[in-house]
Amino acid sequence: MQVILAGRLIDGTGAAVQRDRALYVEDGKIQGIGPAGDTPSDAEVIDLSGLAVLPGLIDCHVHLVFSHTDNPLRDVLAEDDQQLLLRGVASARQALGTGITTVRDLGGRGGVTFRLRDAIERELIAGPRIFAAGSPITITGGHCNFLGLEADDEAAVRTAARRELKSGATCLKIMATGGRMTPGTNVGIAQYSVAEIRAVVDEARRAHVTLAAHAIGTAGIRNATAAGVNTIEHCSWLGPTAVVEFDESVAIQMAEQGTAAVPTLVPVKQAMAATGGKVSEGLREHIALRAEILRCLRRMAALGVPIVAGTDAGVAWTPFNSLPGELESLVSEVGFTPMQAIQAATGSAARTLGLDGVLGALVPGRTADLIAVDGDPSIRIDDIRSVRMVVKGGKIVVENAVVLDP
Ligand SMILES: [Zn+2]
Repeated sequence: MQVILAGRLIDGTGAAVQRDRALYVEDGKIQGIGPAGDTPSDAEVIDLSGLAVLPGLIDCHVHLVFSHTDNPLRDVLAEDDQQLLLRGVASARQALGTGITTVRDLGGRGGVTFRLRDAIERELIAGPRIFAAGSPITITGGHCNFLGLEADDEAAVRTAARRELKSGATCLKIMATGGRMTPGTNVGIAQYSVAEIRAVVDEARRAHVTLAAHAIGTAGIRNATAAGVNTIEHCSWLGPTAVVEFDESVAIQMAEQGTAAVPTLVPVKQAMAATGGKVSEGLREHIALRAEILRCLRRMAALGVPIVAGTDAGVAWTPFNSLPGELESLVSEVGFTPMQAIQAATGSAARTLGLDGVLGALVPGRTADLIAVDGDPSIRIDDIRSVRMVVKGGKIVVENAVVLDP
């Protein structure tokens, strides 16, 4: 039996902060929670009584094999799968050191993220739990076609989904619009019909995995929502030209279905900071519309659309320690309370990824994935940057802010 003493406990359910609690952990799972003070004498004690303890963070959108340099496309085109795997090893370690104990990887190549996930599970290397889509499904020449999974009609997308699941995918991703990383694609125009996306929804449900749809533009958001995907990535409501075209009826449908948005706010913020505003034309266009996009997000939140935290880590200027920056944006730009931002990377994120009851909250029955930080991030979200310890499945994996080898 382990006893973890928490000075402040933020349990990830949205409940108020509890003071001086003891978490009882056995076989990597939380067995019970009580007041600190009556610790059994034979227990292994982890004393975090001077710190705030919260669930291990979940980043719902990463690309572990992307380089997060000024030009990740150049790097992924130039590098072979072995080089991508080495990048992934470093990325996973950085994420864990940031307090991220679970990631959903929404695009790699050649099954590299499956190998990475398996090596972490076997404790060969340090890293978070990985739910991996493998290669995203896209149209011929479409967004991220260089990741190798092009499919152009209903039968083809179905086969693509089955192939990816067979080779080890534990979630799926479909590109519902073009993307800024892929020249020649259009972010404001749909890549797939409702029927085509629905075929992938069917396959995801059959395999009990979730389906993410990349959709920057409104046309793709509309089709993906009608098809019943689990999450809409980016969700920027852009029209075919450089205008914002919010569709309230689609947002209402998202809220009714529980389709979550993963707005990935941090890459643009960090690109602006890193380049002093000297960004590509497409990104400049996006930045000009950012205030309007944020207004859409605030409206979605008011309508009850779940909004969860994902960084798109791996894309330009976005390393694997960017999740605190995303949570700060949810507070400062979308108007979340710090506690709501924490929810977006813990309890709500777990629910969105189909992991309710397993991860994302420090309550009896769930896996003991937790972090300890200085201060109180439920008051000051920036405090989430000061990670002192990370525990994954009851094991200390980061101590004194240093990632341990397994
Ligand atoms: Zn992405």
